Amino acid sequence: QAKRTGASGVELYQPQDHSKARERFRLEAGLRDALEKNGLTLAYQPLIDLKTGRISGVEALSRWISEEHGFVSPADFIPVAEESGLIVPLGRWALETGCRELMKLRTTVPNSEQLQLAVNVSGVQLVRDDIVDAVSQALDRTGMPGNALKIELTESAIVSSPERARDVFVRLKALGCMIAMDDFGTGYSSLSYLQKLPIDILKIDRSFVDGMLKSTDSQNIVRAILSLSKALGMTTVAEGIETEGQRDALALAGCEIGQGYYFDRPLSIEDLTTRLSS
Ligand code: C2E
Ligand code: MG
Ligand code: MG
Ligand code: MG
Repeated sequence: QAKRTGASGVELYQPQDHSKARERFRLEAGLRDALEKNGLTLAYQPLIDLKTGRISGVEALSRWISEEHGFVSPADFIPVAEESGLIVPLGRWALETGCRELMKLRTTVPNSEQLQLAVNVSGVQLVRDDIVDAVSQALDRTGMPGNALKIELTESAIVSSPERARDVFVRLKALGCMIAMDDFGTGYSSLSYLQKLPIDILKIDRSFVDGMLKSTDSQNIVRAILSLSKALGMTTVAEGIETEGQRDALALAGCEIGQGYYFDRPLSIEDLTTRLSS
């Protein structure tokens, strides 16, 4: 809906703009406060080896339960963090906390020594922060080996600064880390990036997994992503598996790793510890 223009040609504020701006400001203030007072946590969603059914790693997902707003979805607070620059300290906090908690699991829970950690990194961090420094600091401080860490970036983050992405990826790989392209298939990336950048993992976006058993188009897209990924020597992860049928279809099509509510929801560190111990 277009804004009304006043006689002076100046855009007039509508009341809903006002409350939206105020809400946005309150979220930003609340998030800044939460970051300062250690009010965020990480949830961990298991990644499942589709051949063996075993947990090969976990993806760390930031969680914020605010006194003022209750549970706030990352879909709402990550954009606020990106616009305000708070994503830089948030991203560093997520990296270090994820590495610390994973290291504790690896050393205390039997058969978890090989567990891998995936952490999401925003395109804004790529431009505004020194990600390589943030990663090596997290590794140094926690003792986690670089080859236990996977960095997830969305296609759009990579597309908006491909030169920067290349430089950063090469240096992250030198630390032993792997690079995953998140939400693959939704972000208008040129396929040439897959060739030019050292990407190890493609994560098939949930929308294709959701559509797989409903439309042949989605099914064909999933197959095409899998063969592309194989041809380029990458590992494929399917996101958002919610049913046994989707799990079976993906395993049959040769997808190596799956993630979704069918297996596990994102778990608190305590629940993850229980899950791994059982
Ligand atoms: P993502 O990285 O693609 O993470 C997967 C999202 O899908 C998570 O949502 C997860 O809870 C959800 N999911 C997993 N399995 C299923 C399923 O079977 N069905 C459905 N419907 N959803 C499923 P979440 O935790 O709400 O996070 C949303 C997005 O916010 C993430 O998408 C990621 O892009 C971003 N995000 C979360 N934490 C961080 C963070 O620490 N840093 C950055 N930069 N981004 C983050
Ligand atoms: Mg992700
Ligand atoms: Mg994703
Ligand atoms: Mg996503």
